[in-house]
Amino acid sequence: MIVGCQWGDEGKGKIVDVLAEDVDIVARYQGGANAGHTVHVGDDEFILHQIPSGILHGGKRCLLGNGVVLDLLQFCDEYDALVSRDIQVDGRVGISERAHLLMPYHRVLDRAREDRAAEKIGTTGRGIGPAYEEKAGRRGIRVADIRNENRFAQLVEDGVARAKDRLAALGGDDGGALDQAMERTLSLRDRLLSLATDTGLEIVEALDAGKHVLLEGAQGTALDLDHGTYPFVTSSNTTAAGAATGVGIGPTRIHEVVGVVKAYTTRVGNGPLPTGGDAAIDEKLRQLGGEFGATTGRPRRCGWFDAVLARYAARVNGLTGLAVTKLDVLDTLPEISIGLEYCFPDGYCTREFPADTFTLGSVAPRFETVPGWEEDTTGCRTLADLPRNARAYLDRIQELTGTPIRFVSVGTRRDQIIFVD
Ligand code: GDP
Repeated sequence: MIVGCQWGDEGKGKIVDVLAEDVDIVARYQGGANAGHTVHVGDDEFILHQIPSGILHGGKRCLLGNGVVLDLLQFCDEYDALVSRDIQVDGRVGISERAHLLMPYHRVLDRAREDRAAEKIGTTGRGIGPAYEEKAGRRGIRVADIRNENRFAQLVEDGVARAKDRLAALGGDDGGALDQAMERTLSLRDRLLSLATDTGLEIVEALDAGKHVLLEGAQGTALDLDHGTYPFVTSSNTTAAGAATGVGIGPTRIHEVVGVVKAYTTRVGNGPLPTGGDAAIDEKLRQLGGEFGATTGRPRRCGWFDAVLARYAARVNGLTGLAVTKLDVLDTLPEISIGLEYCFPDGYCTREFPADTFTLGSVAPRFETVPGWEEDTTGCRTLADLPRNARAYLDRIQELTGTPIRFVSVGTRRDQIIFVD
């Protein structure tokens, strides 16, 4: 499985795209249309929000697990857009019957709440939080529910009524837009039914038949509902253990957990970014790395590589390997820093990631600064091709995280990758 080890946007889509070549099934296990993987194939750019990046490799089966919240409107638009670009999609996509539907009213509620919140989470406004709340509150609508027309109609009616009440309490106006979106969603019912499947069963049968499966995470460890910088997190478990639950298999079926880290750190949305805060570095990395959100276009905040977070991610995910992406973004820098530990205002320093998100906002990391390589790495295809200082930088990341580096990405294209080992 592939898991993000920072605040998302680590370049998981590219790593999944590269690895998908050698697998039979790619499955998403959590999140919804708030994730946005950007994948470059030749000169073509694809932005995928819900359909696994494996779709760009002909013949691979792509599944959306039960842990995903499915925005049917967005999903069908994405599906049709792929078809219009000559990607063969029919028969290749399956959606768990146990997945919850993200309804248009979840989106409306999400935006209304975020607009009025005193302390903003910085959500993408795509309805993810409200959809997961209804799932946990046992009021959600699952794909399997649409098989029974009467029951489905009742659930939808209840959901709309509940949402309208809450919108009225928030002083929001649902307008006609919500009713229209609901009508379109309901018209897609048969299309959804034709894709419904038992993802856990499909995956286990494939594994038993000796096939290979890749589980694709969205967002990152620091956005995990339990292990991230709560409350500035997403509403699902992004970490490795969530993958088993999110597709419906046992954790013992997962053999490898590859954590994806950028060679620096970024964050979109609100909440602390301990190695950020230096305006010049922030701007420089954002421009060099093109750090603007794939889903929202929002500028991402940028900072140096955070070894405290990466080491924590290695622990909570049980990483067996690392994929370091965007190494090329650092190519022109004369010096590069790494956050080694967090120091609190009272002088206490730690290498362990603290639970208290609000004090995390006050830490000053202790940095180690190493020389840059000031050479182009985008043509490197083996570790030996890399400049010496780039190799030393990777060695340091490996040492600080206690995790072997398996892949190094040096550009957006599929071929711009180093397979270590
Ligand atoms: P994801 O959600 O984790 O898949 O990440 P995003 O898609 O939001 O961001 C990754 C962006 O970085 C995409 O535009 C990728 O094409 C790009 N990218 C991935 N790996 C590399 C790399 O090694 N170098 C450069 N320059 N860009 C990369």
